[in-house]
Amino acid sequence: MSSPDAAPSSRCVFCDIAEKRSPAWIVYEDPATVAFLDIFPFTRGHLLVIPRQHGARLTDLAPESRRALIQSVAQMGHRVERLAPDYNVALNAGAAAGQIVFHVHFHVIPRYGEANPFRATTRAPLEAEDAQRLLAELSPA
Ligand code: 5GP
Ligand code: ZN
Repeated sequence: MSSPDAAPSSRCVFCDIAEKRSPAWIVYEDPATVAFLDIFPFTRGHLLVIPRQHGARLTDLAPESRRALIQSVAQMGHRVERLAPDYNVALNAGAAAGQIVFHVHFHVIPRYGEANPFRATTRAPLEAEDAQRLLAELSPA
């Protein structure tokens, strides 16, 4: 159990990214949410969209945080249309559903015509060079 005076930012790796304690390729941020490139992308441009508020599930979030999150997911969906016209939005809730990081996050995954949208053909680490290109491609219009 964490100590009662532990800073909220110490709660998990995504809190650390949101508070700039850990590096990430950040595509978008606002007072309530952050979107960044997944380090093991299913496809090129695979993003994660998180609330700054820590919580494992949508139901753990304050309503305003949840609203802001959905708004950012919609915006990021629009952004990735620059890479591919179609995309998936996914959320894994719980270990049995495949959740590995227990800080709510939506995956926004551009689709380039893979046969099975939920099974990656290959999943290689994000390369810094491509991450730089993606930040330019996904920057505000
Ligand atoms: P989940 O399975 O919990 O829905 O997805 C967690 C996602 O977070 C995975 O796709 C994984 O590649 C990504 N991920 C885990 N740790 C980090 C990290 O430190 N930085 C970034 N950018 N992505 C991470
Ligand atoms: Zn967290």
